[in-house]
Amino acid sequence: MFVGHYAAALAAKAAEPRAPLWTYVAGCQLLDIGWSGLLMGGVEKMRIDPALPGSPLDLYYMPFTHSLPAAVLWSVAAALLAKPMLKLPWSAALMIGAVVFSHWLADFLVHRPDLELFPHGAKVGLGLWNFPLPEMALEMGLVAIAGAAWTARRKARGQAAWPAVAFLTLLTAVQILSSSLGGSSGSPDPFLTGALALGVYLLVALAAAFVDGGRRPAGAGASA
Ligand SMILES: [Zn+2]
Repeated sequence: MFVGHYAAALAAKAAEPRAPLWTYVAGCQLLDIGWSGLLMGGVEKMRIDPALPGSPLDLYYMPFTHSLPAAVLWSVAAALLAKPMLKLPWSAALMIGAVVFSHWLADFLVHRPDLELFPHGAKVGLGLWNFPLPEMALEMGLVAIAGAAWTARRKARGQAAWPAVAFLTLLTAVQILSSSLGGSSGSPDPFLTGALALGVYLLVALAAAFVDGGRRPAGAGASA
């Protein structure tokens, strides 16, 4: 699951627009943003196994970002930090926490069993990655549905539709690029892999901040 995570961010923005889009967009990938950093530092580990069906990622050690307790901690921390730092209402802060946790649920759907239920405990994952076509259809379908809801919400608030279309186009391009790179074999440098992933997550979050602006006509609602 890569681009599919953004469906949660867009759905959240449609449901609770008072948090900035970038917080949802960074939040839905927060576990992977942490993972990228820890991968660069050699703390969490992965390898490429071209023999694996679908995604060649063998994510064999990532307890600090992708175990169930870690995901809960990151989600709670994100909500508790976002509330005072961004001066958000509780509903928006809690929505950010829910979006952070959605990452684990979506990963549970697609990952092979590499998500620890507790430290050094059983690893889970339903393994939809083993079926690349339905997995890709699911990711793009989720983004399309959530993207349509978000675009409709923008239009209802008097905001232009084109930034939403541009953002969805960017997500599609990133997905196409990442799947064309994903099949390469060999042992990638963990530092470079983490840095590349981090760069993509930050770029998408920046793009989200950019498209989130836009005027609202007077009387378009009390939400900010
Ligand atoms: Zn992940």
